[in-house]
Amino acid sequence: MNSNILNLIPHLIPIEKETNSNVSKSQQDTWVTFKGFIDIFNESYYINLEASMLEEDNKIEYIKIDCDPALNNLIINIKVILEQRLAKCESIKDFIHELKNLIECNLKKSHDEQSSQQNIEFLNSIDFYKRVVSEIDRIGWRNLVKVNETFTELVFEYEENSRVHEITIILTETFPKIEPMFRTELPTKFSFDWNQNSTLLEVYSQFMADVDSFSTFWDEMKMLDENCWILEPLKPTKTDCHRRIKLNAYVSIQIKIDPRNPRELPEIIFLGSEASTETFRDKFESKFNEWNSNISILYNLGELLEIKLPNKCEQEEEEIGIECGICYSFLLNNQGPSLYCETQSCNKPFHEQCLHEWLKNSTNCKIYFGFMFGSCPYCSESIKCKIMADQ
Ligand SMILES: [Zn+2]
Ligand SMILES: [Zn+2]
Repeated sequence: MNSNILNLIPHLIPIEKETNSNVSKSQQDTWVTFKGFIDIFNESYYINLEASMLEEDNKIEYIKIDCDPALNNLIINIKVILEQRLAKCESIKDFIHELKNLIECNLKKSHDEQSSQQNIEFLNSIDFYKRVVSEIDRIGWRNLVKVNETFTELVFEYEENSRVHEITIILTETFPKIEPMFRTELPTKFSFDWNQNSTLLEVYSQFMADVDSFSTFWDEMKMLDENCWILEPLKPTKTDCHRRIKLNAYVSIQIKIDPRNPRELPEIIFLGSEASTETFRDKFESKFNEWNSNISILYNLGELLEIKLPNKCEQEEEEIGIECGICYSFLLNNQGPSLYCETQSCNKPFHEQCLHEWLKNSTNCKIYFGFMFGSCPYCSESIKCKIMADQ
């Protein structure tokens, strides 16, 4: 028996224990131990087998395996079936043969499953690329300006009125089942009702229609940017719907335009001291119903406020007076000054935060009804500021 095992597994050495001579031969169990290495697909694993054999028919009664942890992991996968086979094994040799066979079959099976899974993925990816390429064909390759290595991020452009607009489409491998993600630079969020039959051409067509629908909006914004003194945003983008426009050294307006109805009367906030904004507010309140949505925002503003809006290029030197009188800069946390000294001869602008800090630390600061009162750092006249929550 032992030499048979050596033929099958040459690195496994049998170590036979002595049998107990006091017990009658029929009841005797023989303990056999094998130590050595078992080869699974050219890989050797340490193994120690202890088996108790029933002497009369040489059947295995019980078996204990100590082995390399890696081999143990392989055995765990086949444990149930190995136990079933053990009952049918005629000899230790049979058992070791089964063990080796089962592990190798199992390894081969999982390897096959893995490669067939890879095959499916590969076939899926062929479908994916075919689909993406045919989608680009339909939109037109000339409109594709950027694409990544995996064709999962596509950037298409569209030109409107000499302005170039881009849409970035981000695909997942589950495309077209799952909706792609879109990135655009439009004043409103781009959204597309995606279903499994949707195409990227439909997305691109909707993008073009959206861009065209904002044409007047961008024209209006461009006219303001080119003809007014824009205080905020410093570098307007295609998505920005608001502008802070300087009217004179002490007053500016913040306008918010509806991109869908750009020529309608916008939301207007006057920024400056009560006294310096008063004339403009009065003019606006008495004339706002004369707003004419057939003409430009720029023209309407000039008419209603009875002013030629100053242009930055014409009045570069006059820039004094727009920055904060405390920190000497215009923008703080991306915002221009919003408080002004109410004393008409002073009218200094301040950031709310700067004035708050200034008053908090001044000796004559008084607090009433949620306001801090103190003196203007410039003219020493009374000035107030809303109490801000600690930041
Ligand atoms: Zn400041
Ligand atoms: Zn002042």
